Amino acid sequence: MAICEFCGRILEKGTGKIYVYKTGKYIYLCSSKCENNLLKLGRNPKKFKWTLKRKKLVK
Ligand SMILES: [Zn+2]
Repeated sequence: MAICEFCGRILEKGTGKIYVYKTGKYIYLCSSKCENNLLKLGRNPKKFKWTLKRKKLVK
């Protein structure tokens, strides 16, 4: 089972994509939306309401 690195959603088999860093570390991304936010824009998922990572922080 894989979890999107940016939004924290669970990816079903055959969906999403894997991004591999030069260091060999790899992360899962559920959509191009998450890919762009994390890789191109360098945004912090905790600052966005639509990510599950943000929701976990809110008690
Ligand atoms: Zn995502």
